[in-house]
Amino acid sequence: MSEIGKLFVIVGPSGVGKGTLVKHLMNRVPYLFLSISATTRSPRKDEKDGINYYFLKTNEFEELIKAGDFIEWATIYGNYYGTLREKVEQKLSLPTDVILEIDVQGARQIKENADKAVFIFIKPPSEEELKERLRERGTETADEIEKRLSIAIEELKSESEFDHVIINDNLNEAIDRLVDIIIKYRESNTIN
Ligand code: 5GP
Repeated sequence: MSEIGKLFVIVGPSGVGKGTLVKHLMNRVPYLFLSISATTRSPRKDEKDGINYYFLKTNEFEELIKAGDFIEWATIYGNYYGTLREKVEQKLSLPTDVILEIDVQGARQIKENADKAVFIFIKPPSEEELKERLRERGTETADEIEKRLSIAIEELKSESEFDHVIINDNLNEAIDRLVDIIIKYRESNTIN
């Protein structure tokens, strides 16, 4: 498959604000396609199938793994999450850049398999701040927050594996940096 579009992988621990940053990015930059992941976790209140995620049963997800339908997938907090191949490859064959918002495990798989991808690591100003954001979000129980936090602390050690690091302290500045990175790649038309 010949790729015209570029793959931008937004990586970072749960609760760091990747979703908010990506939402603003999509409003600011044209010709971007945000990949919708599949997951076996239950939808949160206000989440809709086919919009936030494709919510699948475990056996359905495992069938897709067997069929090779994922570019990457990972088990995160006891649930499967993965990026479906078909739509992403279709978009990359057009002059459309694709955004993946995934965890560190998934980003490593993309790194091994995709020669042209740009990795942007989003980190919190501090571990304390990350904990506070997870608590404020109120979508997880105290136990789940602790689990997410301990995984996050591990993930924060991996930032040097990625091409760019953005500290999500001031939201507007972080959005500007993200937009800037993508526009610069478009202008220079080079990767790395
Ligand atoms: P949440 O349950 O909060 O929506 O997501 C949990 C974590 O899974 C987040 O860090 C998110 O970026 C990651 N994630 C979402 N979709 C995918 C995916 O398709 N692949 C991988 N590897 N991680 C994903």
